[in-house]
Amino acid sequence: MAECEKTPKCQFFGDKMDNMPAAAAAMKETFCMNGKEACARYVVSISGRPVPPDLFPHMIERARGIISQT
Ligand code: SF4
Repeated sequence: MAECEKTPKCQFFGDKMDNMPAAAAAMKETFCMNGKEACARYVVSISGRPVPPDLFPHMIERARGIISQT
């Protein structure tokens, strides 16, 4: 799988978010390098909605809630 094209500007990938989790490196491997389609930040971003500053990649349920809003 391909690296996420959003890595250059992504606040998570760039370690710019508050409270970065200890598992951030593993999450980058899982989501940013191998599975962007499952990333909460990615799915919100491609929906055209603003990505919350505290939305981490594994928060897919929250992301689904955001993108289901009308
Ligand atoms: S997979 Fe998600 S967290 Fe990683 S760079 Fe892409 S949008 Fe950012």
